[in-house]
Amino acid sequence: TRPVELDLGLVVAGHGRHYIVETPEGHRLICHPRGKKSALVVGDRVRWLPVGGDQDEGVIEHLEPRRNLLFRQDEWKTKSFAANLDQLLIWLAVDPQFSESQLTRALIAAESAGIDATIVLNKTDLPDAAAQRARLAPYRAMGYAVIELSLKHAFDAASGTLNERLAGRTTLVLGPSGTGKSTLINALLPGARAQVGEISQALNSGRHTTTTTQWYWLDRATNSALIDSPGFQEFGLQQIEAQQLPAYMPDLRAHAGGCKFYNCTHRHEPGCAVIAAVERGDVSASRWRIYGDLLDERARTRW
Ligand code: GDP
Ligand code: ZN
Repeated sequence: TRPVELDLGLVVAGHGRHYIVETPEGHRLICHPRGKKSALVVGDRVRWLPVGGDQDEGVIEHLEPRRNLLFRQDEWKTKSFAANLDQLLIWLAVDPQFSESQLTRALIAAESAGIDATIVLNKTDLPDAAAQRARLAPYRAMGYAVIELSLKHAFDAASGTLNERLAGRTTLVLGPSGTGKSTLINALLPGARAQVGEISQALNSGRHTTTTTQWYWLDRATNSALIDSPGFQEFGLQQIEAQQLPAYMPDLRAHAGGCKFYNCTHRHEPGCAVIAAVERGDVSASRWRIYGDLLDERARTRW
């Protein structure tokens, strides 16, 4: 049980051992967790106490229960980095061409955390748009929302479509570099990223960090927020058990119930309904290969 006088706060950024916590009134202060362990992430709701009567510094005493939590793969380590999300916006572009493996990892991360996923295909003004749109067709068929945009050439139309998806929700935007995420953030929130860079540099004693995950309000009144995680590489999926993976892949999931063996791995077993669906073309061969790669990756890194 926690004392009632603790104030509620939202973690809007983490800088090493320091966290920027925002009060319900919108005041921001620097907090550190009591004790040595600091495993808080952007989106966390916390209870805190002021330090020495100061309005700008506090100690985090308590973490409120999380609705969900996402992990990133940081070289060989899996680290949590964002919590309490409503939506994942997987930001892809016609160019650079997206990797289906990265897309699948992102979708599995969202499914396993119980977070809605929306796929964006930006730069549809480029000549290769039709081919990249076709690569996303299986994902539409699985039920994922796919939004096509041309931010650079039709920002107003694009932002209209996006605003509908962003309204009233906490959305994490993630995708490979060069796809137009900075263009989006700079257009929606002019100057915000530069300001974050300065704070980050000051709190990290001059070290420049490009991987600071940051909370931005789009509209406080409607609870619409964007979480930006520049420099993001890959989701961490190591916390998911191998036999759970098909449950987070809607195309495999649709067939897995029909396999002869209850513990079928869908790779080589006789009577596998997933393999039969791949052979018929009902499940894309590339998705099935990516699933196999994820199992192999697990076998290599777990013992
Ligand atoms: P980030 O690395 O994801 O943050 O990508 P940027 O926002 O820096 O964009 C990378 C490049 O793509 C920049 O030169 C942008 O001007 C360009 N870009 C952004 N949106 C579009 C678009 O809709 N069409 C085209 N052709 N280029 C775009
Ligand atoms: Zn099977």
